[in-house]
Amino acid sequence: MEHLYLDAASTEPVSADVISAMMPFLTEAYANPMSVHSAGKTAARALEAARASMAADLGARPDDVIFTSGGTEADNLAIKGIAMARMRLLRETYGEQVCPRLIVSSIEHPAVLESARWMERWFGCEVVEIPVDSQAHIDTDALRAELAQGELTPSTGGATSGKPRNSTLLVSTMLANNEVGTVEPIDRIARIAHEYGVPLHVDAVQAAGQIPIRMREWDVDALSLSGHKFGTPKGLGALLLRSRVPVEPLMSGGGQERSLRSGTQNVAGAVALAVALRDANTRMRDVQRALVASRDRLIDAILRVEPRAQLTGDPQRRLPGHASFVFPGLSGEALLVDLDARGIACSSGSACAVGRHEAPGTLLAMGYDPVVAKSAIRMTFREPLAPEQINQIAAVVEDSCTALRGASTVSDPAINIQAQQATA
Ligand code: PLP
Repeated sequence: MEHLYLDAASTEPVSADVISAMMPFLTEAYANPMSVHSAGKTAARALEAARASMAADLGARPDDVIFTSGGTEADNLAIKGIAMARMRLLRETYGEQVCPRLIVSSIEHPAVLESARWMERWFGCEVVEIPVDSQAHIDTDALRAELAQGELTPSTGGATSGKPRNSTLLVSTMLANNEVGTVEPIDRIARIAHEYGVPLHVDAVQAAGQIPIRMREWDVDALSLSGHKFGTPKGLGALLLRSRVPVEPLMSGGGQERSLRSGTQNVAGAVALAVALRDANTRMRDVQRALVASRDRLIDAILRVEPRAQLTGDPQRRLPGHASFVFPGLSGEALLVDLDARGIACSSGSACAVGRHEAPGTLLAMGYDPVVAKSAIRMTFREPLAPEQINQIAAVVEDSCTALRGASTVSDPAINIQAQQATA
């Protein structure tokens, strides 16, 4: 039986094209791009070409692109860096009597949520979490209400720079959710944040290379992405950041990357990001329709063989190669291990939640019972699945669920809920 890797949202392989594009910058044109000699200038030209290529693919300008070591670093720089810089402006204008706030959605990745919590711990910021509905759509009315609460001077809309008009330092929401694949209306969220003079950071780590991104058209202020989600080696990413947004660097040093991310740039890594993103965007255009069709066939097939399973997230407005479910009455962890033993590699939610045996945070925010949330399984892929592959996955899921139900002494959801109440 064919082994299937259905965990592309955790990480992807690096293609031969990306490796061969990187090679010259590891072996021949390896000079430091800050060096003034001609070899350094060659490396600098490659770095700038990579920056321009990424900007073109993301609807941004070359100057917006700051190379980082991945999505986590990009999120940290956006949240902590923008919050610290705007907090200084807030204090200069209003003194200590205004409590700074950070608004995040309740389904953010830990790289965002924990960065906001860090600002709470060290700088006393109030962190406000915006709720989502049962399909993980961010509640934009609640966002508007929270922004209205932070108003210091009546809203006139427009500029997010200069003297702060709102005690909210930053709004941060994701473009596409890692656990359930729901895509958020970022242009609308940006309009709301800007009405109140607050900048918007978008975690686009799961979306980059999967759906189109138009940073400036959507009027986003900062946007994070991570290369290994679209085919680079791990440890590469970028923060796209408009110059109108004040930022405090987290890394002090030689002043590379607009002085916002010091450290000798990884030229081969930047080239990998540009080539992989271009490849992913080309693939997106070529196979998007087939990918969506195969995703929907996979969802139907699984819900047919396992009628107790439920799709999680928005059925339509979701990432093209993303199918996520809960299997009430089963343990997602046990199902994951059993599916793996039967040749299917998938995930129980976000990669970072695996091994911690916690219920996925997004599902809890969507209102799922914690026991049901622990039955989550996520299948993610970048190429359309063939009908035989879909049949194989459905058959394996059916066998696996049957085996686990037979083995489980508390397989009924009602019993599980009683057991949970007994220990609560
Ligand atoms: N943000 C989201 C939505 C993610 O899914 C991930 C990784 O899974 C990250 C941030 C962190 O990215 P990285 O692995 O590059 O640090």
